[in-house]
Amino acid sequence: MIRVKRPDPPDSLLRKDGKAAAERDAVMKFFESAQNLGQKYPGVFKAYKEDDVVKAINILFGEKCAYCESTYRATAPVDVEHYRPKNAVFDEVTKKLKYPGYPWLAFEWSNLLPSCIDCNRRRTQKVSDGKRVVGKANRFPLVSERQRANRPGDEKKEDALLLNPCEDAVHEYFIYEEMGVILPRAKRGAKFQRALVTIEVVGLHRAGLVGRRRKHLKKVQRDIRKFQNHEQLLRDNPGLKGDAVMKQLDELVDTLLEYLEPDEEYTALSRQFIEPVLAPFLPALSSKARRSSTAERRRDGSRRTSARTARCSA
Ligand SMILES: [Zn+2]
Repeated sequence: MIRVKRPDPPDSLLRKDGKAAAERDAVMKFFESAQNLGQKYPGVFKAYKEDDVVKAINILFGEKCAYCESTYRATAPVDVEHYRPKNAVFDEVTKKLKYPGYPWLAFEWSNLLPSCIDCNRRRTQKVSDGKRVVGKANRFPLVSERQRANRPGDEKKEDALLLNPCEDAVHEYFIYEEMGVILPRAKRGAKFQRALVTIEVVGLHRAGLVGRRRKHLKKVQRDIRKFQNHEQLLRDNPGLKGDAVMKQLDELVDTLLEYLEPDEEYTALSRQFIEPVLAPFLPALSSKARRSSTAERRRDGSRRTSARTARCSA
């Protein structure tokens, strides 16, 4: 999971005469009446499915799932996921659905995320410690069920346990093992709890997903070894610094930097393994600057900079 900065909302969610405005007015009117508090909202929502919203959601994480970082671009349409569920929420104490959920956030840009089907839907899955139903659906666990909002605005008083990849520093919460397994980075405390709950709710320990991360990591490690071997060769043989040799080093660095792009699959895992390897060679660039410079190169269609080659061969 990586943190992504959310851009401004798409136009259709902002227009005063649009579907979102009409849906917002209807929800607010419903909850103005005290007798409707805690009741199921009878209306329907369409604004979050408008073309420009779906397009913006796809761009947000480069057509990959905000939770598990698997790309869906070639296999399935995106599930526009409501971080806080719109129609009902699963009560973690009674284990039953509770109303109203968060209907007033159904069309709010800040509440929408792209999700793959497996993270978003409740299904029986093989996970690291057995087989059971996982997937987010109506789940949105809180530190205490007593905080649960039942009217617009009260959600601001909640302490969410599920991490939000557009708001939380999610890179601080997880660690990836050699076999593709994801674990909480902290050993105890609030960070441990939020990481653990997030893994369980969206099923980041699904066997299929762990397998895909393992396969990805093998590829990353192979490319790390190629870079390290070549770099060692240059270190041991200073006379080898001809154009062809330097070009090869440049390409090996580019291959590693490519894995760190936010729209590549499993970027968080790649960063954990690649950044410590490249760090000594890129002392003048912060990791943030490196990311933006690689993003710029991608936009320009250019894959190399002589500055990097100079640093790497230093
Ligand atoms: Zn997913």
